[in-house]
Amino acid sequence: MIPASFAAIPERFWRHLAEAPAAALLLDYDGTLAPFVPDPARAIPYEGVRELLQRIDGGKTRVVLVSGRPAREVRALLRTVPPLEVWGEHGGERLLPDGTQWTAPLLSEEKAFLDRAGALAADHLPSERIERKQFSLAVHVRGISGGGALLETLRRLWEDRLSGEGWRIRPFAEGLEVRRADIHKGRAVCALLEEVPPGVPVACAGDDETDEDAFRALGERGLSLLVSVAPRCTAAKFRLFPPEEVLAFLRRWHTAAEESGAFPGDRKNPSVLETLRKRVSRTRSGVDAG
Ligand SMILES: [Mg+2]
Repeated sequence: MIPASFAAIPERFWRHLAEAPAAALLLDYDGTLAPFVPDPARAIPYEGVRELLQRIDGGKTRVVLVSGRPAREVRALLRTVPPLEVWGEHGGERLLPDGTQWTAPLLSEEKAFLDRAGALAADHLPSERIERKQFSLAVHVRGISGGGALLETLRRLWEDRLSGEGWRIRPFAEGLEVRRADIHKGRAVCALLEEVPPGVPVACAGDDETDEDAFRALGERGLSLLVSVAPRCTAAKFRLFPPEEVLAFLRRWHTAAEESGAFPGDRKNPSVLETLRKRVSRTRSGVDAG
């Protein structure tokens, strides 16, 4: 469906946010909080984003980043004080504010599969365009002329030459990725929703194909927001034009969440943080998705 505009977010959502004792805000990083730049290592947040997130997280809202990047990379780029919780690699790893980390298990044959995908990509692209992650391999063609055709060639090559159950080839903004099918942002959102009490307002924002899993997982439980300069078909209910409406949304969230002012956030409760830390430690072996 085509998402409604930022202005169409119903007043009742903001009232609910003002009145609720806690809230959760799940955010993608690249293309949502930071612009795309030729060197991903330099993708710093839009001006004002860092301060707004710090203020929102300092209140009753639990702010969580859900990104395709490794979690520590997002933390290093965002540089909030204190750090925020980050789910990296599309939910394959989780980094709590205190540094506790959980990573999904990966078999040696899965590593070998990604090695083969990388070797096929290396025949067509320089190594700096190939990004090997734990659960996926991504290629980036930003700024390369004929990049779209190159991605199509590589997609066919991966489909023809890689044999393996349980993998998905997915496009993202100016790139293509092969990733384990059970590792996706929807899984991260489902795990997070289990930790959010019923009735607590939740919103989730993201800009690309990989965020559609998150929007679908959120469903009617919260506010889903596609960050995009143009309307397009999406599972998200609303659209934010970056960066202006992303900043306007964060400012509005902060204002609404501060209206009540009297409630300490769930995550600020030490016993809740301790429960989370234990859960992540317990599942570090990968027994459960966390
Ligand atoms: Mg993104």
